[in-house]
Amino acid sequence: MSNSVTVKAPPTHAPMTQFSVAKGELVVGGISLTRLAARVGRTPFYAYDRGLLTQRVSELRTALPREVRLHYAMKANPMPALVCHMAKLVDGIDVASAGELKVALDAGADPGEISFAGPGKQDAELQQSVAAGILVNLESFREIAPLVAASVALGLPARVAVRVNPDFELKSSGMKMGGGPKQFGVDAEQVPQLLAEIGRAGLAFEGFHLFAGSQNLKAEAIVEAQRKSFELALRLAEHAPAPVKFLNLGGGFGIPYFPGEQRLELAPIGDNLAALVAEAARKLPQAQLVIELGRYLVGEAGIYVCRVIDKKVSRGHTYLVTDGGLHHHLSASGNFGQVIRKNYPVAIGNRMGDAATENYSVVGPLCTPLDLLGEKINLPQVQPGDLVVIHQSGAYGASASPTGFLGHPEIIEILT
Ligand SMILES: *Cc1c(COP(=O)(O)O)cnc(C)c1O
Repeated sequence: MSNSVTVKAPPTHAPMTQFSVAKGELVVGGISLTRLAARVGRTPFYAYDRGLLTQRVSELRTALPREVRLHYAMKANPMPALVCHMAKLVDGIDVASAGELKVALDAGADPGEISFAGPGKQDAELQQSVAAGILVNLESFREIAPLVAASVALGLPARVAVRVNPDFELKSSGMKMGGGPKQFGVDAEQVPQLLAEIGRAGLAFEGFHLFAGSQNLKAEAIVEAQRKSFELALRLAEHAPAPVKFLNLGGGFGIPYFPGEQRLELAPIGDNLAALVAEAARKLPQAQLVIELGRYLVGEAGIYVCRVIDKKVSRGHTYLVTDGGLHHHLSASGNFGQVIRKNYPVAIGNRMGDAATENYSVVGPLCTPLDLLGEKINLPQVQPGDLVVIHQSGAYGASASPTGFLGHPEIIEILT
């Protein structure tokens, strides 16, 4: 009998092979990182690769049935140039404020395929929506009266869908946004009454919106949520004042951020959506199925780049102090929704060929221990001036960070 123990290898990050490497440098948008940093003029910055954005949408189109409409939920990354690029690739844009609506319209998105979701829409925002001709996802009985008022004042139809808070939860979701008591949508059991009021008020009813949650890496959980959402919409459609034209089944497709996580498998989701498309053709013949994705479309195409200012040893552990930090990248610091802090994938973008022989923590310049971009990670030998790259940074980065905290220079974002 041997009493040897099998040593389990520690989980690693999914490979970040979406970016190529040439002469030891990460290549972004066809440009080596050192040259790109020189072109930007200073660090830190976010860089989004337009080729990767295009590639992601075309992979998704191949994996999903042609009939499914693909929307970009722009709160994941509202940079105007990026939204402009995405607007040309996807069928529609989902906005969450009048500010985002402006960016979507400026980007040339078709108002017929813009939808607006979010609790607490203001009367002015509802009026802007009617004037723009976009679809409002109703999340409260309260929204009916200002929409009627706007419709009468402008002599335009008020296009609405009902955002349903479903009577189930999305399993294995990073962030649950449906099921149980929620501030989002209207509880499924109250929807028949809401539909009756929509009919009496004369709003232009066009469909349903169900969004169960975000950052899911399990295809079977997404399949189950989409199937249950579809069935719930079929039941609710019996109470609708007009035929369903749009059935938005949400999204929630995740990307791998942390060690041990793997990329989502699209094939089962595509098969399930094909079955739902066929069923919809029989049971809701006027309905188009829509999925809305944020981070899945843009997250993997973006990096955050900061420069090492100092390399300090404290009681045996080495800190790389950089010019970037949580004021630009709250998510990577672990303070945007993570329960237990884990490291994003980090690389030294100008030393991609060097072996990871050292163990460092990467921190920012802020006077708070929360300003941690990577804790005890294996990296090549680094010198001040080197470029730290944080991968998976195309979504919920700049716009989701407290950029005013400590008064550092504003963040730069480029699309290349
Ligand atoms: C945030 C949000 C999305 C996008 O979520 P991702 O995880 O980025 O795909 C889509 N729909 C609604 C209603 C949202 O609130």
